[in-house]
Amino acid sequence: MRYYSLNQQSPKVSFKEATIQGQAPDKGLYFPEEIPVLPEAFFEKINEYSKEEIAYKVIAPYVGNTIPENELRRIIAETINFDFPLININGQISSLELFQGPTLAFKDVGARFMSRCLGYFVKGNDKKVTVLVATSGDTGGAVANGFYDVDGVDVVILYPSGKVSSVQELQLTTLGKNISALEINGTFDDCQQMVKQAFADSSLTTNLFLTSANSINVARWLPQQFYYLFALQQWADKNNPPVICVPSGNFGNICAGLLAHRSGMPVSHFIAACNANAIVPEFMQTGEYNPKKAVATISNAMDVGNPSNFVRVLELFHKEFNSLKNVLSSYSISDEETRRTISDVYTKYHYLLDPHGAVGYAALQKYFGAIQNSLSRVGGFILETAHPVKFYDVVETVIHQKVPVPSSIESLLHKEKHSTKMNADYTQLKDYLLSKK
Ligand SMILES: *Cc1c(COP(=O)(O)O)cnc(C)c1O
Repeated sequence: MRYYSLNQQSPKVSFKEATIQGQAPDKGLYFPEEIPVLPEAFFEKINEYSKEEIAYKVIAPYVGNTIPENELRRIIAETINFDFPLININGQISSLELFQGPTLAFKDVGARFMSRCLGYFVKGNDKKVTVLVATSGDTGGAVANGFYDVDGVDVVILYPSGKVSSVQELQLTTLGKNISALEINGTFDDCQQMVKQAFADSSLTTNLFLTSANSINVARWLPQQFYYLFALQQWADKNNPPVICVPSGNFGNICAGLLAHRSGMPVSHFIAACNANAIVPEFMQTGEYNPKKAVATISNAMDVGNPSNFVRVLELFHKEFNSLKNVLSSYSISDEETRRTISDVYTKYHYLLDPHGAVGYAALQKYFGAIQNSLSRVGGFILETAHPVKFYDVVETVIHQKVPVPSSIESLLHKEKHSTKMNADYTQLKDYLLSKK
């Protein structure tokens, strides 16, 4: 399998090169040259396969011959060594819980897969790889955990001081070993700007082998298909495929679902659930794509004003608006609706949503409301992208109760934070990176 750049100016590359580079030299996102189609029998017999076998069948064509089969199977087994349960909430709507991994958010899957692929690719290199990443919250924890103790890889995470939740901060700052956290006196945009400057600085990149672990990397994007198929396995009504609703920010997650669908996975419809950052919902209404500055909401992992993976969604549909519309709808949900949804679902069904899952639930309800007469028997599920405890400050004020703390977080709360404080100043970052060499 080869990957081309969506900007069309850079040469095609293998999965290995796309993983190491992250972005193409022409700043485009990599896209697979062809979408593999899985045989119908695979979907009909999906309950006969193990999770590992499903994941292997899905990803093997994308990896091609860049990783031998036994290594790839090991990487997969380590990536998905936790549960992905589909929990029925109210008969019509279920929740695919993607928060059972080590950092309690769906990003664990992509980060664990990518870190292990990169670890395999750099094995035996004499030069260390430095993964540089800016985070507004969940990415940092998942990347830190995924790359922890991976040989030959150093990870440097920039996060905005005082602007991530306390659980998120502990997940970034307590690992040690090959993981360093830089606490930036500034905003997430400042962090991102500093990282961008580092990648563009040839006096740095000739000395250091720098790479990024953000969500445009194909090795983070593609394995997200796995759990759509794990959900299909658990979907009881095989004659009526599910409507799938994905809380979306940079649109990497939903784009993986659309890819699985293109490979043959039966799905009735996709919903992209957004918060007040309604760029895609507006696009689906008007056909006009107007990126904006992100506004802050209580589902902060989706506060994105120019979703980086949306170009991949468009590419998948050959930029044909009408064929995209047949498969995808999108809704914007306000913070007030999000809070009300957390409260209602908890009161009525005793199921506790996090703010991102609640945006998904509210959007799926809107969709079912809109199609009620024509397809009343259809059901669906949301992707519950994070554990409610990660956002306990929001959730507890809505339900007026404490959120039970899972044991993995319990031990985290007693650990000591280690960060290096830094101003939002690129020269400081550069000196820091060079001194680590
Ligand atoms: C990152 C994140 C999202 C958004 O996912 P995208 O792939 O960027 O659309 C949604 N929910 C949570 C909890 C996240 O951490």
